[in-house]
Amino acid sequence: MYFVEVILPLSLAKTFTYRISETEFHYIKKGMRVAVPFGKSKMYTALVIATHQNQPTLYEAKEIHQILDEKPIVTEIQIAHWQWISTYYMCAIGDVYRGAMPSALLLESETVITHKQDVFVDESQLSDDEFLVYQALQQQSSLKVHDIISILNKKNIVPVLQKLIDKNILVLEEEIQESYKPKLVRYVRLHSKYESNTGLSELIETLKNANKQREIVMSYFQLSASEKTRGEAKPITVKKLIEVANSSSAVVKALIEKEIFEEYFIQEDRVNFAGKAQEKALLLSQAQQTAFNGIKDSFTQKEVCLLHGVTSSGKTEIYIKLIEEYLVTGKQVLYLLPEIALTTQLVGRLRAYFGDKVAVFHSKYNNNERVEVWKQVLENSPKAQIVIGARSALFLPFYQLGFIIVDEEHEQTFKQVDPAPRYHARDAAIVLAHSHQAKVLLGSATPSLETYFNAQSEKYGLVEISERFGNVQMPLIELVDLKDKYFRKRMTGHFSDTLIDDITLALSLGEQVILFQNRRGYSPIIECMTCGHVPQCQQCDVSLTYHKHKNQLRCHYCGYSMAKPTNCHSCSSIDLTTKGFGTEQIEQELISIFPLAKTGRMDQDTTRGKFGFEKIIDSFKNREVDILVGTQMLAKGLDFDNVSLVGIMNADTMLYHPDFRAFERSFQMMTQVAGRAGRSEKQGKVIIQTYNPNHNTIQQVTNNDYFGMYKEQLYDRQIYKYPPYFRIIKVTLKHRDFDKLKEGAMWLYQVMSQNLNMPVLGPEEPAISRIRNEYIRTILIKIPQNTPIGSTKKTIQKILNSFEAVALYRAIKVTLNVDFY
Ligand code: ADP
Ligand code: ZN
Ligand code: ZN
Repeated sequence: MYFVEVILPLSLAKTFTYRISETEFHYIKKGMRVAVPFGKSKMYTALVIATHQNQPTLYEAKEIHQILDEKPIVTEIQIAHWQWISTYYMCAIGDVYRGAMPSALLLESETVITHKQDVFVDESQLSDDEFLVYQALQQQSSLKVHDIISILNKKNIVPVLQKLIDKNILVLEEEIQESYKPKLVRYVRLHSKYESNTGLSELIETLKNANKQREIVMSYFQLSASEKTRGEAKPITVKKLIEVANSSSAVVKALIEKEIFEEYFIQEDRVNFAGKAQEKALLLSQAQQTAFNGIKDSFTQKEVCLLHGVTSSGKTEIYIKLIEEYLVTGKQVLYLLPEIALTTQLVGRLRAYFGDKVAVFHSKYNNNERVEVWKQVLENSPKAQIVIGARSALFLPFYQLGFIIVDEEHEQTFKQVDPAPRYHARDAAIVLAHSHQAKVLLGSATPSLETYFNAQSEKYGLVEISERFGNVQMPLIELVDLKDKYFRKRMTGHFSDTLIDDITLALSLGEQVILFQNRRGYSPIIECMTCGHVPQCQQCDVSLTYHKHKNQLRCHYCGYSMAKPTNCHSCSSIDLTTKGFGTEQIEQELISIFPLAKTGRMDQDTTRGKFGFEKIIDSFKNREVDILVGTQMLAKGLDFDNVSLVGIMNADTMLYHPDFRAFERSFQMMTQVAGRAGRSEKQGKVIIQTYNPNHNTIQQVTNNDYFGMYKEQLYDRQIYKYPPYFRIIKVTLKHRDFDKLKEGAMWLYQVMSQNLNMPVLGPEEPAISRIRNEYIRTILIKIPQNTPIGSTKKTIQKILNSFEAVALYRAIKVTLNVDFY
């Protein structure tokens, strides 16, 4: 008997065995997809990872339904890499498979249950079962019947679904099979019987009385003649023909019906870029050239190199030169960015250099486009020799990877938070590169502590650039002491006189200004001046943020919103005030302080929609906006040439975040935002407003002292047992019942601290201890660097299994975040 071993796209840790025939056994290869039945009557797209002849002992193997591929679409390296991700990040292999594949390649046709958009749900009105379904739909955009059966652990789920539909929460729809459809382009050619000269005159004769048809045929001849002069005849699209002849598709259709034209279709790659390589000569500066040589040198010894170059040192140009070297070898290059919003700028820069060798993979692309890139990468197409993407591009079926760049490697967006797999794209990239024998370059002006530590301990190579490109000076940083300014009444709203003077100066010189405030909305708190009441979210343990423009109070954790109250809900007083401030308030204040300046705002509220981010960037680049206010989105590698001033409105909120990385992050964020100033010629200026001008971190930012920050933080990390000295696994427990959760968390904590020979902390109530009506507790496991991590994880898994075996705790949701960021 013959069998295949498959991964199912479900949150299941195991692989499954199915029966195949002998013929199939010889046909099927690892990495092909097969449709298999699973559960009662569902069909899934499973991935073959082995063929064998070992009958499973615990269950009778079912037969596969059909083979879906003619050749593998997932490579063996990928399968091994996914298995590594599942083991290292402690998640089901099915989660990795499902997260890695474009969903169009996981097609299945079943009833799909989704939740209605933009409907506010009063969760207190839901029964437990209804709540579980509702909640699962917060995690996944849709569910299938069998998911719900397993969530509720009962067969008859129809009554629950019916109630949810009645409550206007759910919709059912039959999912359309969205399989991959290549875009076809319609072409015409002349029927072969008219190819000879006699045929031709016959044709013209036929069309004597059909002017429009004759015109289009004439245009066809013109086009084919002109295209032919450049070598072979090029196919002529219907679109082009109609354009040139200034005609209509009806006329073409008539000619096709008369069998004068023949139509045919060619598959066009959807993701097609018009740009051509400009062959722009790129000359590296001395410092860049030295760095370039240093990196190449380091690659002869080591697989990974860190390029630590100050902001605007011209790291991108060094990447370009390195990519060029790998292209010659015919190998593929992967360029990872922390944020898809940044791709537009970068793609432009790379296209100018490499033309159509650059492909982009990102989640805003639709399914078809993603499948197309998938196939190009798999087939080693020249069109996808360089792939740019955010973290998920790591899952593409690289044929032969030569080089990976992880730009802005310190960015926390490289770590996936939810759902599983909770992987770190930088670290997973290093593992992937190893199996391809490829090299990895990590780039940053503010490397993560972990990476710099690896470079210092010579695990990675290290190349540093301490000067900006073109002899531009580092920006001058000036600190403004808010305590003093408030005391001396030198503040207008949240602006010190210093900041106002400098903005005025910059504007008078026609220069642009960036203002940074890492909080959106108008203010995070509204408070009653009479009784002190602060409106809270009903479902979460946070105060509601005031959004003035929409006159709303909104929860940033669950999306709940309500109209801004005119009086206090507790004592009815109308004396309400706001506390704290966000980008919206800064923008408002700007309008009254600088009524003539044009202002823009860049935060999650203004960048929604497909090109929201790009539009704001463009208008700022085109100088349609003088002052741009924004959140940390501004800190991510943007290159503007006319910004002479950057203002950080308040440095303190970042510093006092309850997180062991708070100082490191504050340093990175401030240095990165400051780095947007003065990127060409004139020295830029940065004003940091703070109550703590003497804080070490702020001093380090001011003195551009990365190494000082590194050493100080490293010292703390060692003392308080954090990375890079300890690996952290964060265990999060969630449940609606406060007492049950508390008890379960304590049980888990106790078993862990008894069985793991290492620090276990908790169970802690996080700063926001309830989200969407679920209470949260966390446990931190700190694994010393020299402890074998594999066996520790096995022990943890065993403990979790026994936790789940306790009936009382089964409903508590437990998630693991390995190397939590
Ligand atoms: P970084 O990524 O290090 O912050 P960039 O790569 O964005 O810096 O470079 C900063 C600016 O300098 C960009 O506008 C870039 O086009 C320009 N630049 C850098 N190197 C060169 C070079 N060798 N030739 C021309 N322009 C360069
Ligand atoms: Zn009140
Ligand atoms: Zn909420």
